[in-house]
Amino acid sequence: MDKFNTIENLAPAGKHVLVRVDLNVPMDGDRVTDDTRLRAVAPTINELADKGAKVVLLAHFDRPKGKVVPEMSLLRVVPALSGVLGRDVAFAEDCVGEQASSASNAMKNGDVLLLDNTRFHPGEEKNDPAFAAELARGMDFYVNDAFSCAHRAHASTEGVAHLLPSAAGRSMQAELDALGAALTSPKRPVLAVVGGAKVSTKLDLLGNLSSKVDMIAIGGGMANTFLAALGHNVGKSLCEHDLLDTARKIVDEAATNNCEIVLPTDVVAAKAFAANAPHRICGLDEVAADEMILDIGAATVQSLTARLETVRTVVWNGPFGAFELEPFDAGTNAIANKVAAATKAGRMISVAGGGDTVAALNKAGAAGGFTYVSTAGGAFLEWLEGKTLPGVEALRIG
Ligand code: AMP
Repeated sequence: MDKFNTIENLAPAGKHVLVRVDLNVPMDGDRVTDDTRLRAVAPTINELADKGAKVVLLAHFDRPKGKVVPEMSLLRVVPALSGVLGRDVAFAEDCVGEQASSASNAMKNGDVLLLDNTRFHPGEEKNDPAFAAELARGMDFYVNDAFSCAHRAHASTEGVAHLLPSAAGRSMQAELDALGAALTSPKRPVLAVVGGAKVSTKLDLLGNLSSKVDMIAIGGGMANTFLAALGHNVGKSLCEHDLLDTARKIVDEAATNNCEIVLPTDVVAAKAFAANAPHRICGLDEVAADEMILDIGAATVQSLTARLETVRTVVWNGPFGAFELEPFDAGTNAIANKVAAATKAGRMISVAGGGDTVAALNKAGAAGGFTYVSTAGGAFLEWLEGKTLPGVEALRIG
């Protein structure tokens, strides 16, 4: 984090601080059904307000595509946000122009003002410099606390950062610290868990990880493609038969990088993709033509568990099996709980995120034991793929 300003580097008292947050929360009617994102940005907002800043919040909601769509107004989020913050939140019906400037001019020190959906303006997603300048008007500082939006070069995530003295908010700072500890300067050996449905969606990720980590444990439907590539019969398992050459190349490339690809040595096979479907544990060459692999087997769990005794860093994306369907969550649960226990014992740094991973770790009851679980989705995956995140780059100093 030494290459970024944080809130500590600002003197925000009496100043207008424009804070980019992620308020794209799931809703049922006017009710926020999951307030994780609101709780994530609360520390930054409250810290700035407590320091006497005039905190002006900027966010998008859904995909209005550059037009005003009343159902996508952030006004609906105000009651839940106010409840999470424990303070009043004023609202302006536009994020630029007269509405925004009169509301921000009326603020007192410690006030919080939410501006409406940035994506109501076409300039947001185009990263239009004129729109970014309008966002910055009357503001003294810019704080980005929305890592989950940092893979997009939009006016509110990238453009405006170049126009004002900028800093990372607390949630952004925590994310960058965790990601840095996991891949930039990790304690070795590093084990990456890459699971999930398909290899095709994780090619860039595997390519990047194989140059950075010491071992990649492959699980889920993806593992079936690798097993098939190595000549095993995977029956009617989810398997990308057109990617067998690609899988072999990934294994070869990893070997060149001194990265070990760790595949299951036994599996749980069933005839139906359904909860509590009759199933059995079998060896790799015992999967029948009418069976599908839905989880890693007990011997694989045991050998991965033994391996975790010496691993110092785990980066986790994707489940080891069809975790939504019991008992095919068993492999994911066992390994996730082992990682959580080793982390709690101080033997390991563990960072997880992307896609269904958060749901899988929550279901395992293990998420709280990890060092950091990112809810950033796309941004977390792009970071795992080694891509530059424009919203992070724009904050970089020096
Ligand atoms: P992803 O979004 O790529 O992380 O994939 C997660 C999905 O992969 C979950 O819905 C899992 O049910 C699914 N999955 C994991 N293992 C298997 C498997 N062996 N067969 C079919 N689907 C699986």
